Amino acid sequence: MNDVETAATEPGRDFIRDIIQADLTAGRHKGVVTRFPPEPNGYLHIGHAKSICLNFGAAQEFGGRCHLRFDDTNPAKEEQEYIDAIERDVRWLGFDWGKNLFHASDYFEQLYAWAEHLITTGFAYVDDQSQEEIRVKRGTLTEAGKNSPFRDRSVDENLDLFRRMKAGEFPGGARVLRAKIDMTSGNINLRDPVLYRILHASHPRTGTTWHIYPSYDYAHGQSDAIEGITHSICTLEFEDHRPLYDWFLDHLPVPSRPRQYEFARLNLTYTVLSKRVLTELVRGGHVNGWDDPRMPTLAGLRRRGVPAAALREFVKRIGVSKANSLVDVAMFEHAIREVLNASAPRRMAVLRPLKVVIENYPEGQTEELEAVNHPDDPAAGTRKIKFGRELYVEQEDFMENPPKKFFRLSPGQEVRLRYAYFITCREVVKNAAGEVVELLCTYDPATKGGNAPDGRKVKATMHWVSAKDSVAAEVRLYNPLFSKPSPDASNFAAELNPDSLEVLSDARIEPALTDASTDVPVQFERQGYFTLDADSKPGRPVFNRTVGLRDTWAKVQGAS
Ligand code: ATP
Ligand code: MG
Repeated sequence: MNDVETAATEPGRDFIRDIIQADLTAGRHKGVVTRFPPEPNGYLHIGHAKSICLNFGAAQEFGGRCHLRFDDTNPAKEEQEYIDAIERDVRWLGFDWGKNLFHASDYFEQLYAWAEHLITTGFAYVDDQSQEEIRVKRGTLTEAGKNSPFRDRSVDENLDLFRRMKAGEFPGGARVLRAKIDMTSGNINLRDPVLYRILHASHPRTGTTWHIYPSYDYAHGQSDAIEGITHSICTLEFEDHRPLYDWFLDHLPVPSRPRQYEFARLNLTYTVLSKRVLTELVRGGHVNGWDDPRMPTLAGLRRRGVPAAALREFVKRIGVSKANSLVDVAMFEHAIREVLNASAPRRMAVLRPLKVVIENYPEGQTEELEAVNHPDDPAAGTRKIKFGRELYVEQEDFMENPPKKFFRLSPGQEVRLRYAYFITCREVVKNAAGEVVELLCTYDPATKGGNAPDGRKVKATMHWVSAKDSVAAEVRLYNPLFSKPSPDASNFAAELNPDSLEVLSDARIEPALTDASTDVPVQFERQGYFTLDADSKPGRPVFNRTVGLRDTWAKVQGAS
């Protein structure tokens, strides 16, 4: 788990796709049918994106279909909000289930009938032991379980009790239906697993019709069989459940015979991918909702400005394997930068403004200069930006007493303002506290467009905006939500990064940015990629930093 994956496996091919290909070649299936089976008890995260891309992607590549199936077997935790969010997120990621939208709850009648079948054939019984007793008697990895005193009830008594459980005659948790398999099995999942529990709750789809709900293990494989799923792909923690998955199929008159395959789940540095923890982050107010741009949820990533194409590309590069690993989040950011570098329009914005007055530029005068929208794409065209006597530059682009290699603005040092002129700082204005508040500069009118006719060079090109013609904006910078590369999910609150959000409330942006939209990220030149946030108000745009320009992943790759 601890070695960070540095090399992507060959994209587009993996052991699951090899299995599907072999099955199709051998004629074991006419076509491939997969499913993505989320439980609607939270929002989808980037780990789910791996599963979605695999299930929908493989089905697409082999001309089959992928079902979206809600595993809605626990109404105590599931909500309509989550169902809606999951559908929206799968679509946004670029996949379409067409008519194939299903719910485990669509099969409640059939699953119930099959449970009676197991009772009738002597393979299931009603157990009156408490949850705690059941847990204790299940034994451990080294110690066999003990039979329940209710294990040998007659078929008639079991049927009677199970029907009364269904009718709602008993309080929640009073009894369960268990499969009768083997309390001494080396595989704990086969020690008489629970099939049904009593739960008096309202279900988003079936309302209060049911008083008993099937377990995940019992519902899942049978739902696969009903839908004719050929390859039921899940994560490695279900490997030990596979014998149970097969046991049900062996003991029930199911219409088809699916097979389960397991792959390694995605783990990312500085990230927790557990719905339980993500739910606690939201409920505990550690973040501002499921779509907080710091969250690894698809809703959060979308709001932050991450394109769906970058997620798909990332998932393709990490590949699918059976070995658990921890992927460096820098690899994800690298994919985001690649997609955005090619597509994002270039703009100028000053995040932490420092005023510049060009003393030899006429008062009241402005002029329009031409700026390119994308350096590698002439078709993206140009735009006009306004230059005037008063400008803003980035505070960090100025140093009063610079070290040797600082080539940006400092007293006496000439620099280029992008698309505009060469300027030189002549005087530094400070406030009473001694802080630099303004720079008095001169410009060289002969350098219009950013080149000197005498061929003299400057070592720095800086971004800037006009003071009068720029617009005030809020910019939100995001850092990792957790301060450790492998946060401990059981003690996550202690490992939250206190500096995960930095709000810059008086940034200045060029006017073209007032046309920005929440789904088209832009590059703020020299700063990174930014996306308009839904919190924006008329006259008060808010931008999220999607990702900075510096690429630590490229460095890692270059070094190896
Ligand atoms: P839980 O079961 O604790 O609610 P879950 O993350 O498994 O959490 P599900 O809704 O059951 O949530 O997941 C749907 C599908 O997504 C499952 O097939 C699951 O294996 C897969 N999945 C979940 N997390 C990851 C991950 N980190 N990487 C890859 N696949 C994942
Ligand atoms: Mg799950």
